[in-house]
Amino acid sequence: MPRTDGLKTKLEDFPRAVAAHVPTPLEPLRNLGPDLGLSLFVKRDDCTGFAFGGNKVRQLEYYIGEAQNERADIVLITGAIQSNFVRTAAAMARRFGMDCHVQLEERVSGATELYRTNGNVLLDRLLGATISTFPVGEDEAAADKALYDRADRMREAGRRPYVITLGTDHPPLGALGYIRAALEFAEQTADEDPFDEIIVGSGSASTHSGLLFGLRAIGNATPVRGICVRRGAALQKARVEGRVRDIDALLGMAGTVDDGDVRVFDGSLAPGYGKLNDDTRRAISAAAQREGMFLDPTYTGKVMAGLMLLAESGSLAGKRVLFWHTGGQPGLFAYADQL
Ligand SMILES: *Cc1c(COP(=O)(O)O)cnc(C)c1O
Repeated sequence: MPRTDGLKTKLEDFPRAVAAHVPTPLEPLRNLGPDLGLSLFVKRDDCTGFAFGGNKVRQLEYYIGEAQNERADIVLITGAIQSNFVRTAAAMARRFGMDCHVQLEERVSGATELYRTNGNVLLDRLLGATISTFPVGEDEAAADKALYDRADRMREAGRRPYVITLGTDHPPLGALGYIRAALEFAEQTADEDPFDEIIVGSGSASTHSGLLFGLRAIGNATPVRGICVRRGAALQKARVEGRVRDIDALLGMAGTVDDGDVRVFDGSLAPGYGKLNDDTRRAISAAAQREGMFLDPTYTGKVMAGLMLLAESGSLAGKRVLFWHTGGQPGLFAYADQL
């Protein structure tokens, strides 16, 4: 398959700090699928292994690879208080011999004591990350700027900082990890019936855009539906479309994904990022009690809740569907008093 080879060659231009345990398993959900009237499978990216796993390991291989290439001695990252990206970045920085500074944003109103101290925050502390706070959670540009200002001060003090930003004005390096994941998925399923749909969480959109891009770039037409975990459907669709174009630019390609090919669903998002709802509680219970599989309140629980709503509406009836698990389970312990 020469198209796969071409994409692999392009990816080799980017330094990578290898940490993920891949390929991750792809397996049937034999109880939940029939419950929902469909043929349901899961891609276990919660099992990427490193530091409790999840999708951020694949993404960070490229950021930490670049940080190493620049001979950085400290990684700076910003995110929500219970961010899995932040926890995984701190762990990867440590693994590759760097320090880490994390900036935790007030993104979830009414945060409880557990939310502020347990789950990922506990892990950030154990990793020895230095921690600062940022008072707003919905201003990516300001959060990134605060991080850059801190990096400037560190540089003046003789450090070699590497900044991982959230905003969309920086190249989507993390999405490259999901292009690799798309190649992995295509190889893993080459001898099987195609899936009618892949369902995956869509937040910063590195996962959604990278996966969609990778599949289309090798001629795989499997529909990908992003379940919104951060913002409503219209904004998220625009975000994914923009990131897809950014990947084109980064790889020197053009028009790899049509805008019409970007599918999103926000029926399980309310009341907003990091806030539980009854559909999500139900999805977390169903996955645990029917499959012995743990989902988290902020991301994968909402994705499964979205999948269940779509199944109940009849739009997935009888279909062969892949739920792409993206990890996040440490977040469960921050919500223990709400579950
Ligand atoms: C970050 C995260 C997502 C969303 O991935 P993006 O690449 O930011 O869109 C989904 N699930 C989990 C568990 C995450 O930590």
